[in-house]
Amino acid sequence: MSNIVAIVGRPNVGKSTFFNRLIGERQSIVDNISGVTRDRQYGASYWNGKNFTVVDTGGFVPHSDDVFEAAIREQVKIAVDEASVIIFLVDVTTGITDLDEEVANLLRRSKKPVFLVVNKVDNGQRLFEANEFWSLGFENTLFLSALTGSGSGEILDAVADHL
Ligand code: GDP
Ligand code: MG
Repeated sequence: MSNIVAIVGRPNVGKSTFFNRLIGERQSIVDNISGVTRDRQYGASYWNGKNFTVVDTGGFVPHSDDVFEAAIREQVKIAVDEASVIIFLVDVTTGITDLDEEVANLLRRSKKPVFLVVNKVDNGQRLFEANEFWSLGFENTLFLSALTGSGSGEILDAVADHL
């Protein structure tokens, strides 16, 4: 499979909401692609004439903080291996968390293009607050409301440029 766009990030940042928006009515592909797909959902999408596969990660329900962090680390590693482009989703309503910092450290070593997308930017006040995420140091930082769709066109333009 080529042109894979993986959405990674800790739970509740809005990965599945964004994934569903990207695949729309299109059916997600049943997950028989690798052995680790229990926690991954694949869906077909296209933008600006490019077809791609979107991966939603992290359906895994953890039993402890250690297992939880290990699961997220594993998802990020798989994404870095298989994806053409990585969307690292974070949540403006919580600000930067320790787990965000940890994921950021893993992704900084990636040679693949990474887009830091600050989600739940539903209004102007939140857009102002979202500026704190520039401190994670990602040149490609974009803002989204997966709920309303605001910002998704700009994100898709940027992602499609790298496919
Ligand atoms: P995931 O665990 O990363 O897959 O997150 P989900 O997609 O399940 O979303 C977690 C919660 O955040 C849900 O209650 C969503 O409705 C909510 N959510 C997702 N995107 C947005 C957004 O852009 N704005 C707001 N206000 N809530 C959102
Ligand atoms: Mg989810």
